[in-house]
Amino acid sequence: MVMGCAPYPAGAGQEDSSWTITASDGKGVLPNDHSAPPALGACAEFPPALPASAQGTIRSVDTGGEKAVALTFDMCELAVSTTGCDMEILSFLRQKGVPATLFMGGKWMRTHAGRVIQIMRESLFEIGSHAWTHGNFGIMTEQAMRGQIEGAQAQYALLRERALREAAEQGCQPPDIPVCTGLFRLPYGRCSDRALEILAEYGLKVIQWDVPAESGKDNASPAVARAAARMVKPGSIVLMHANLVPRGTAALVRGLVAELESQGYRFVKVSELLGMGEPRLFREGYFSRPGDNLPLDSRFGFDGTGRKKP
Ligand SMILES: [Zn+2]
Repeated sequence: MVMGCAPYPAGAGQEDSSWTITASDGKGVLPNDHSAPPALGACAEFPPALPASAQGTIRSVDTGGEKAVALTFDMCELAVSTTGCDMEILSFLRQKGVPATLFMGGKWMRTHAGRVIQIMRESLFEIGSHAWTHGNFGIMTEQAMRGQIEGAQAQYALLRERALREAAEQGCQPPDIPVCTGLFRLPYGRCSDRALEILAEYGLKVIQWDVPAESGKDNASPAVARAAARMVKPGSIVLMHANLVPRGTAALVRGLVAELESQGYRFVKVSELLGMGEPRLFREGYFSRPGDNLPLDSRFGFDGTGRKKP
């Protein structure tokens, strides 16, 4: 894959064959690597710890009525399998110049390393952590939570170094890639008081959502996009996936972007949204109402990663 040097916005609105879908982007196509995550050494720089007042899950931001909305996409990958990279979504956003925040699992980053480097060099997109192998922070041990957090950060740091090195080798300007991500998304939206304390200790802001846009069934139906658009308010954070696990999300994104544009909404990354007002903080993580994700605790192995035993 040959990548041009020019970052967004120079590339926006232009066809670029490096952003079209290939066979290796498909769900489960790339082999699963069971080995341990890289050591944290590569990424000593977590953001500063958050004060107790900033602890919690952020579901939206009080923008004072300004019609800004953050589209977010999770790239989840359990320990036991690999998922895909939805290039239909990413190339659509890029051609439209719509920014987005992508919450990547650490192992997902390792599986899809080439795509991550490409995304890191595209300033339209921002990367957050989605833990190492989708561990469930409502039921994991403290040690296991730390492993999930540190593994994803270490993988990010390794790929950032590679992205900078490759850009230099190609004679490109060094891309502006944050040293570490300061954003974290809880797998399954599950958490606990102890999880929130640990994440704050690592300086990670826990970004949830107030708009779970996917229906879980046929996301390509225009009714799903209309229903999602009705949930959006100024300062909303929209949850979707870009790992080809739920079906039809690319069609949902097209419909939702068109609908929100017609309502006068502006799309921003999560970090920009956080700069626009006070975050609305909660102690719990959930999809639409507290407790609605508890049934997932027993469906993905003993700790959410898909593994049957430690
Ligand atoms: Zn996930």
